[in-house]
Amino acid sequence: MAKLEGAVVVVTGAGRGIGSAIAEEMSAGGASVVVNYAKSAGPAEEVVARLRDTGGRAIAVQADVSDATQAARLIEATIAEYDHIDVLVNNAGITIDRTLKNLGVEDWNTVVQTNLSGYFYTLKAALPHFLGQKSGKVIMVSSFVGKMGNFGQANYAAAKGGIIALVKTAAIELARSNITVNAVCPGFTETEMYTQVPDHVKEQIVKRIPLGRVGTSQEVARAVRYLIVDGDYITGSSLDINGGIYM
Ligand code: NAP
Repeated sequence: MAKLEGAVVVVTGAGRGIGSAIAEEMSAGGASVVVNYAKSAGPAEEVVARLRDTGGRAIAVQADVSDATQAARLIEATIAEYDHIDVLVNNAGITIDRTLKNLGVEDWNTVVQTNLSGYFYTLKAALPHFLGQKSGKVIMVSSFVGKMGNFGQANYAAAKGGIIALVKTAAIELARSNITVNAVCPGFTETEMYTQVPDHVKEQIVKRIPLGRVGTSQEVARAVRYLIVDGDYITGSSLDINGGIYM
């Protein structure tokens, strides 16, 4: 069993939504948290203020993780502040939804660059630290869409499916160094990303979910905590938190 108390946890895209819930869950367990953001400084600073108000240690670090240099800078800033890193949670993600007929090359590249390559860049930057200390936990936020596909989301689905394959390969390579790598696959989750979905589509979505509702960011955050704290013998897995929409 790993302890959150005193652990250093980096969460990408943690200024709102699922990322901020993960940051709060980690901080509640006693971790020192790095709240990463790309553009939205205000919300990230608010998350940091909330964590500090409840006695936690946290800093906000601006870095666009779709850029390898900035992703490396995020890990450098973590080491400069806390001396080491125990957990990397790759969560930052975007959508540009279009059917294949309308999906441009740039729409494809932008989503894959952020949602898949960005996950590799941060892992690559954190890896020397994990290997040096012979321990580390990596959680990558994928999506049920990465397993099932979804109309109008070819770029997103390809990136999210790629994450699951990256997780399995990293898990195989890194197990010998006591580093576990797992994915979580949320279903529809009540965040700003989900609020972009038109109301009539939301009604159809809820009808497809066996548990009859969308999930919360906190439910995803608790699954992340489980993998970190109680998941010593879990690696290469992709845990569904989706109300049964995909089994
Ligand atoms: P969200 O509310 O839109 O938040 C996304 C966060 O990612 C923001 O804080 C954003 O910060 C950050 N971000 C975006 N691009 C970034 C970049 N290049 N570098 C650093 N940070 C970046 O999204 P969410 O719904 O919480 O989703 C979080 C993760 O869960 C994503 O990977 C998403 O694909 C996945 N997911 C979500 C759902 C859902 O229904 N909501 C379902 C399945 C999976 P800035 O504003 O600063 O850019």
